[in-house]
Amino acid sequence: MRITRLPRLDNTNGWSRILEPRKANPSLAKDAAADWLIIGAGYAGLAAARRLAENRPDDRIVVVDAGEVGENTSGRNSGFAIDLPHNTGSSLEELGASQRYMGLARTAIDYMEKTVIEAGIDCDWSRDGKYHTAVSSRGASEVLEPLARELEALGEPFEWIDKRGVAEKIGSSHFTAAVYTPGCVLMNPAALTRGLADTLPENVILYENSPVTEINYQNGVHIHTPTGSLRAPKLILAVNGFAERFGFLEQNLVHVGAHASLTRPLSKQEREEYGVTDPWGLTPANAFAGITMRYTNDWRILIRQNLNYAPSQFTSISKQQSLKREHQALFDDRFPMLKGVEIEHTWSGYLCFSKNGAPGFGQAAPNIWTAVCQNGVGVTKGTIAGLLAADMACGRDNPLIEDMESLGEPARIPPRPFVDVGVQARMMWELWTNRHEA
Ligand SMILES: Cc1cc2nc3c(=O)[nH]c(=O)nc-3n(C[C@H](O)[C@H](O)[C@H](O)COP(=O)(O)OP(=O)(O)OC[C@H]3O[C@@H](n4cnc5c(N)ncnc54)[C@H](O)[C@@H]3O)c2cc1C
Repeated sequence: MRITRLPRLDNTNGWSRILEPRKANPSLAKDAAADWLIIGAGYAGLAAARRLAENRPDDRIVVVDAGEVGENTSGRNSGFAIDLPHNTGSSLEELGASQRYMGLARTAIDYMEKTVIEAGIDCDWSRDGKYHTAVSSRGASEVLEPLARELEALGEPFEWIDKRGVAEKIGSSHFTAAVYTPGCVLMNPAALTRGLADTLPENVILYENSPVTEINYQNGVHIHTPTGSLRAPKLILAVNGFAERFGFLEQNLVHVGAHASLTRPLSKQEREEYGVTDPWGLTPANAFAGITMRYTNDWRILIRQNLNYAPSQFTSISKQQSLKREHQALFDDRFPMLKGVEIEHTWSGYLCFSKNGAPGFGQAAPNIWTAVCQNGVGVTKGTIAGLLAADMACGRDNPLIEDMESLGEPARIPPRPFVDVGVQARMMWELWTNRHEA
């Protein structure tokens, strides 16, 4: 089958623009063969490759990606490796599900951390934790208080921080309260993705700038790229929202655009006026109305704001320019003492959700496994999905596979244009009913 949509690559990702240039691996340039093929070199594909190499050190493993590592969504996110579920519930069943979820997310964090330390990946990896913040007293009572109760029921450490405390920690009086949890890791996601790719074991070959334009599923898999082709008996598909283009989850995925900006680094004098010394990360009580923010190790502020329905997985340059202005205004409003600090980089990326929040994980055909549909939390969910897909494919006994499967399968969504109307209406409703959290 022909692959009718490829990721559209641009040069806007701020996280990689602030790093030294990296030389990409060569493209697939011949007719090759491998024991295993992985398509996609984001968190899911890179974890699958590393784990396969551990499981099968003598097999030849090939990873192909349409672009360059660190330029994909894995390198474009806000850089939070999150260990807790976004929404917990209070019933025993829900708490049990939260425990399983945390086990999966923490295994992913530990797996990445081990590699970061052992391979010496320089990506500002740090267990800084995160502040879950509310702007209004309604947000505090409707979101933060239940969250605090659930964390208590789960036996998870957290700290309730009042308005003054939040202002001291992050240097903005915009927020009413926050719940601080210590388990989240902050890093530069482009540096992490590059590092994970550049330290793959020796029996893994990564071809970059090698978009799969055609795939044939007879007698194993046979892919074609513009410059080469490859055959393999087994495939792990790790292309997140592009899975439907490969004939999987064709009526299950909802695509959402997410947009972020980084300011230039604060000068010494601006840092003194700002008064905050430690890096921090903050997620909003409502992801649609609120803003994700960070203060980085190199004294920049990140703003991640505006989620939009994006079935085309594309954002025009004019929309990016208007997002940059929007992000600048939000930054100026939250940090009046830093007036004059400009946004330096603005970029977009694409999340992939299922209606019921379930991952696209598991064995999809006798010789094919999928690790896709990360529901917006792909640093941890993608990593664990890739790792467990590799274990499942090798028949390695891992009790976490059952925990992963207990998250369910992506529910079917209506065909377009019905789904377009439904998703847009839902997003507008979220924005309207949570406007107090903007
Ligand atoms: C602005 C923003 C902020 C975010 N913040 C966070 C956050 O703080 N924490 C978090 O956990 N998540 C966050 N996310 C989501 C997270 O980045 C994704 O969930 C994650 O990148 C998914 O990882 P993945 O490996 O599954 O897919 P991807 O990173 O999308 O990798 C899939 C790969 O498949 C390749 N591919 C697709 N089609 C083909 C083809 N035909 N041929 C070859 N290769 C192909 C692509 O090039 C890509 O490299 C954010 C996303 C955005 C956009």
